[in-house]
Amino acid sequence: MTFQQHTTVLAGDAPGQSTTLYWYTAGPEDAPTKVHLQAAMHADEQPGTMALHHLLPMLRDADAAGRLKARFVVFPSVNPLGLATRVLRRHIGRYDLETGVNFNRRWPDLYPQIAEAIAGKLTDDQRTNLGTIRTAVGTWLDQQRPATAAQRLRLAILKSAHNADIVLDLHCDDESLKHIFTSPDLMPGLQDLADRMQVAATLTAEDSGGGSFDEVLPNLYRKAQRANPGFPIPMGAETATLEYRGQADTHDAMGREDAQGLHDFFAGRGLIDATVPDATPAPGPTPFEATEVLRADRPGLLAYRVGLGDRVKKGDVVADIIAMDGPDAFLGRNPLRAGTDGIILSRASAKYAVVGSSVAKIVGTEILPARAGGYLLED
Ligand SMILES: [Zn+2]
Repeated sequence: MTFQQHTTVLAGDAPGQSTTLYWYTAGPEDAPTKVHLQAAMHADEQPGTMALHHLLPMLRDADAAGRLKARFVVFPSVNPLGLATRVLRRHIGRYDLETGVNFNRRWPDLYPQIAEAIAGKLTDDQRTNLGTIRTAVGTWLDQQRPATAAQRLRLAILKSAHNADIVLDLHCDDESLKHIFTSPDLMPGLQDLADRMQVAATLTAEDSGGGSFDEVLPNLYRKAQRANPGFPIPMGAETATLEYRGQADTHDAMGREDAQGLHDFFAGRGLIDATVPDATPAPGPTPFEATEVLRADRPGLLAYRVGLGDRVKKGDVVADIIAMDGPDAFLGRNPLRAGTDGIILSRASAKYAVVGSSVAKIVGTEILPARAGGYLLED
C-alpha cells in the first residue's frame, strides 16, 4: 500500500498563526512518471476539490490492487490560506487579501534562475538534459527563503510540481462549460485529456501575460530549448489549467463524472492499469487570442439573450444592459454585441455589471487584433 495522507504546516504571517496543507501520495515512489494534481488554488473554486474527492478513492483502490503505474501527488485543496479569508460573510478565495495578488498570477520565470547552473552541462541525450534541468530547478527551490505564508505555500507547491511529468491545476469559471487552458506546444498531445473531460474548448497561449501556474514549466522548457538550440531538450511537463464548469457546479454527480474522466485519461496513458472505453472526441485547440472576453461598456443589469454553448455571429446581441441611472433608468436597455463569431463559453453569474465587468467569453477561431500579444486573462 502506497496511498498516504500528508500534512505540511506552514507558518503564518501573524504571531502564533499557522496553516495546514493536506495532500496525498499514491503509487510507487520510483515510478517513471510523476503526476501532480491540485485543485482550488483559487480557493473559491470547489468543483475540482469535489472531483479529487471522488478520484482519491479510485487511486486508493487501484493502489491496493497494485494497478498504479505512476506516482500521484494530489492536493485536493491546495490553498488553505485562501480558504481562511472570509470577509463580511463572503469568501474571498481568488486574491491574497493582504497584497491583492491573484493566487494564480506572478508565478516565477524559472529559466533565468537556472540558466547559469545548466551552462556547459547539456548533452546530446534528452533524458539527461531533462534531469539536469530538474535538478537545477530543485536546487534553486531549495535555496529560496520565503518571507510570507503566501510565499511558503507557493514554494511547497513548486517543490512538488517541478519534477512532475503531468501537472493538472483544477479550477472553474463563473458560469461556464468545461474547458482547458494550456500551451500550444502541448497540443495535440493533451487532446486525450480534452476528450476524457469532454470539454467545449481548449484555449492555448504561450504566455497569457499573467504568470499563471500552468505556464511555469512549459515556459521553463521552452526557454531552455530556445536558449540552447544545439541540445535536445524535451517539453518536460504536460501542464494544463482545467476549468470544471462554474463555481456553483459543485455536486457529487459532476465530481464523480470528472473523477472518472481523469481516471480514464490516466488509464489511457497506461498510468493506471485499467481497461477503459474509447473517448468521444472533443473539439481541438484554438488560440486563446481568438477568444473574446466581452465586457460591459456601461453599468447596469445584465439580461442575457444567449445561453452557454450558443453559437453567435459578430454583431449578435449577447445581453442587454438595463440602465440603472439617467433619464432612461430602469426603462432603457442597451444591447451588448458579440465582437466575433463563436461559441458562448462562459457568462457572469452576478447580473449587476459595472463598466469593464466580464459578461461572456466567446470562443472564436480568428485571432482578434485587440487580443494579439496582449494580456489575455480576465483577472
Ligand atoms: Zn481559477
